[in-house]
Amino acid sequence: MRREEIKVTLWGDSARKVDIETIENLPPPVLMVMTSLKVKKKPSNTNHTCIFINPEIPQAEPYKIEFSKATDNIKKLPTPYKQLTAAEVKKVDKTTVRKLNKLNPKEYKNQLVYCKAFISRFSTHDGWWYEGCPQCYKQLTVKKNSDLQVCLDHSVQIPLPCYRVHATIEDPNSEATIKLRGKPAEQLFGITCRDLIDRYPYAPQETLPQEILQTKGQIHIFQIQINEANGFIVKGIFPSTKNQPSASTPAHPMYDKKRSVDKGRRQLFATTPDKKART
Ligand SMILES: [Zn+2]
Repeated sequence: MRREEIKVTLWGDSARKVDIETIENLPPPVLMVMTSLKVKKKPSNTNHTCIFINPEIPQAEPYKIEFSKATDNIKKLPTPYKQLTAAEVKKVDKTTVRKLNKLNPKEYKNQLVYCKAFISRFSTHDGWWYEGCPQCYKQLTVKKNSDLQVCLDHSVQIPLPCYRVHATIEDPNSEATIKLRGKPAEQLFGITCRDLIDRYPYAPQETLPQEILQTKGQIHIFQIQINEANGFIVKGIFPSTKNQPSASTPAHPMYDKKRSVDKGRRQLFATTPDKKART
């Protein structure tokens, strides 16, 4: 009511569920009530966020009066690129994991592919998070002869823990390794990397927290970018209609020898048998 503005970032299912069409077709002003936001510098939704359009609450009336002035037209910000809705993703052509492995990265440089598969295991040979620049999320490097962490573009920064999780996805005929970072990883694990590190401050890089492990066995539609240097990078995760509870999967497929892809990794897992108890 003080006419202050605040930018809220919605991501994951909360963003997809916003019914833009209804909002556009309603007579202005349109009141939107959002619950359970994470309040930081840039507020964003949590997994518990509910969004109500024009709820019938007593508080709505003063807002309607205040924001019915001629100057209060809806300003629409340009969309940087078209994001498919969950319904559109269901209809889009999906590739099998076998086909995904065979796609030529050069041909698919500017195209996202969709693949329905389940998460069969995680690899920790390269850790599961890194210290990133809070502005651009690139990995920080330690400045010579100091403890300072620097970003090539943004100089000295306080590191922000960022996800870099390697997961293996499978369908009945094949498997592939994907990289989970940023928002899709936060959406999948239901927590930001920083909050997860805060929760387990002494968790070593080779031990995956329960929040990550519990997604094993889940089936999703993965929106994947094929990068020549970095492999399969997940840009979005969409719900699949048939989702299994993770409890129905084998307890520790990650440590199952016959599933291990290469010997080097298997050895790494074999040296950490005590981690089994935590899964
Ligand atoms: Zn930076």
